[in-house]
Formats: sequence, C-alpha cells, structure tokens
Amino acid sequence: MGFIDKVKGIFKKSEKEAATSAPAKEEPAAPANVAKAAEFPADSPINGYVPGLGAPPNGKINLAIYWAAGCGGCDVSLLDTDEKILNIGDMSNIVMWPIAADGKEKDIEAMADGEITVAIINGAIRNSENEHMAKLLRKKAQIVVSYGACACLGGSPALANLVPGGHKEILNYVYESVPSSANFLADSGKKIGDVMPSVKYEAPEGTLTLPVLYDTVKTLDQTVDVDYYIPGCPPTQKSIAQLLNALVGFVYKGEALPPKGTVVGVQAKSLCEECHRHKENRRITNVYEPHEVLNIDYDLCLLDQGILCLGAGTTAGCGAPCTKADQPCRGCYGPTQPVSEQGASIFTAIASLFPVQANDATMDEDDMDEIMSVVKDPLGYFYAFSMSKSLIKRAVKEGGQ
Ligand code: SF4
Ligand code: SF4
Ligand code: SF4
Repeated sequence: MGFIDKVKGIFKKSEKEAATSAPAKEEPAAPANVAKAAEFPADSPINGYVPGLGAPPNGKINLAIYWAAGCGGCDVSLLDTDEKILNIGDMSNIVMWPIAADGKEKDIEAMADGEITVAIINGAIRNSENEHMAKLLRKKAQIVVSYGACACLGGSPALANLVPGGHKEILNYVYESVPSSANFLADSGKKIGDVMPSVKYEAPEGTLTLPVLYDTVKTLDQTVDVDYYIPGCPPTQKSIAQLLNALVGFVYKGEALPPKGTVVGVQAKSLCEECHRHKENRRITNVYEPHEVLNIDYDLCLLDQGILCLGAGTTAGCGAPCTKADQPCRGCYGPTQPVSEQGASIFTAIASLFPVQANDATMDEDDMDEIMSVVKDPLGYFYAFSMSKSLIKRAVKEGGQ
C-alpha cells in the first residue's frame, strides 16, 4: 500500500470512528488562536479576587507550576526568562514548582479552593498522577494556564497514541524487546514479570505505588477547564513576558485580564506570513531531509527546496526561529485560527504543491508515493505536536478498541 493510500485509509478510519463512537463527555473545543469574546463566567472564582486594591496577601500572588508528561523544557523556559525571572520571584509566592522549589501535594491539598492565584501547567496528561494533579490544581487555582505544546496539543508524548496496544504494548516493548532489555533478560535469566514496573509494590517500609499509565495521552483542556493557552515547544520568552505583564497589570494595576480562552503570544495568520523566506515555484518534485541539502538557500522557501516545512498550517507568533536556522517548521505553535486539524491541514497544503493538476500534470500518484517515501513516519511528521487534538486521536487494533 502506498503512502497516499495509507493516509487516505487513516482518515477514512478516523471519520468512521468519530461517527460511531460519541464521547461520553463532550471535549472542550480546540483553542482558538485569538482572544475569544467570552469573559469569565459570573460564578468564576476569579471574580472573587479584587485586583489593583493593594497587594494580595503576603504582598504576592500564589503561583503553582506543575510539570505533567513533558520533557522539562517548558520548566526550563520559565527559568530562561532572563531578568524577568525576578518579576516572577517579586510578585509570587511560589507554592509549588517541583523542579525548582519545595511545596508538596499535601500542602496544596491543605489550601482553600481558589487560594492559588495562577497554576501554570506544562506537559500532557499521560498518567493518573498527571490527571490527579491537574484536577487538584484546577480546584485550588483561580486561573489555570495550559503551558507549552504538550499541554495544549498533546505534543510528542501523544505520539504514543499511535501504538495500537496502548500502554501495555509500550511497556512490553521497553522492558522486553529493546536490545538492552532483551540482552539483560537473556543474560540474567529473569522473566519480563521480574522487571516490569508494578503500580503497587510491598516493601518492608510499606506499600509503594506508581502512577497508572494511560493508553491515550490527552491535553490539559481534555482533562480540566483551562483559562489561557501558551503554545510552543517550549513557549518563547515573548509569550511568557506577555503572560507576566497581563498578570502584573491585573494584580497590581487593576487592569482587565485577557478574555478566557485567549491563546497568548500567537498571531491570526500562518507562520509563512511571519517567515522571511520568499516563495518561488511552489511545486514539490523532490523531498529531502534538511541535512541532505548541502547549500540551503537562506532566502528561498524551504518547500521550494524540497524540505517539508509545516509553516503553512501553523499559527504565527514564534518569530520563525526554525526557518531562520535553515530548519523546517514542525508546527509546535499549533494550528492556524480557522483550523483544528493541524496535521491534515498541513498535509493538504503540501499535497496541493505536487504537480498533478490537469494544467501541469507532470507527476502521477506513484511518483508522489515515491517522493513521499522519504518521510519514514508521516503521521509522526505531520502530527508531531497535535495528535491529541487530531481527528485521529489514537490508533486502534483492527476489530478491537
Ligand atoms: S512542549 Fe516541548 S519543551 Fe514543553 S514539555 Fe513538551 S516537549 Fe518539552
Ligand atoms: S513553508 Fe516554511 S519556509 Fe516556506 S514560507 Fe512557509 S514557513 Fe517559510
Ligand atoms: S518555526 Fe514552527 S517549530 Fe519552530 S518554533 Fe515556530 S512554530 Fe515551532
């Protein structure tokens, strides 16, 4: 089966699934890329907070930062705000930030609902601990910010959704099949059951537990209500500064917060409009990995040079650092405003650049298959960040669930 047929098959399947399996609970809509008109509802705890009337208790707001399923880059990006990190320290009493400060789950549980002013949560929701902490912080915080591509779109952790057998298949692969595990089992004479992590373990000191790994990785807003979104892998300094400025204005000057649902730091246009490169022939006749093109033309669109850049289906706001560095955009800022299916949108945009139309038909479907065979993992490429928010959402076993 060729590449084109595979992609068609995937979309047919996901449309069928979408039609036949109505979700028990309606999932929140994908974030829009510009401010929504809706304000906080009248009963929102944020309305009980009186900004601008002197400093909050302790002279500081209560800030919680939590790292769910992610790589840590989002936490580091907060530290990478140069002198603005001092603003965070000046205006916040940091009640939780596992990577940088003390503050335990029991301390958060002991707080009154709404006592935390802002909870910034990065990472996707991948296991029971992520879900529990997201729900706990939502309960205790007046404002919840979904921070980074993993929290907003699923990010790279959500590529695990493409494993049909879910978490069991992943664990079996890791603890049994990868060469280092297979060699260890063979050399030690142990069985996989001896090394597989268990969610409960009886130790002399008591029962030890591990979080339960889920089959499907979700976004933060597929788990709890979210007030603001900051996309990016990780978000840029500019986006973080916008968030901090909004919080400072709200807390100390009584300025209005952006409307609920605002996606901070994005622009209502595609990355191509922000990119410095110009487009020339807009026809793809070859596809290359970036390292295969020895002299990348700095001024010419990467697609014109056969490098699959996803800028056309990605929202602007990051400043296009990747294309400035001769690397294609991989879509970490999420879809453009009218689109929620980022991968399909990008795929369609790229497919339209193959010369197959009646007026310039120099290529047939087999040629396209051959060219696209360079992309070894098309779903991973086109949905590198957005699998949880896609129509596909996850792979399923034939005839299974
Ligand atoms: S969005 Fe990127 S930087 Fe942030 S946790 Fe996910 S992978 Fe890491
Ligand atoms: S496709 Fe990529 S390189 Fe080309 S203009 Fe758009 S963002 Fe720039
Ligand atoms: S150019 Fe694309 S991949 Fe790079 S930071 Fe911007 S949105 Fe993310």
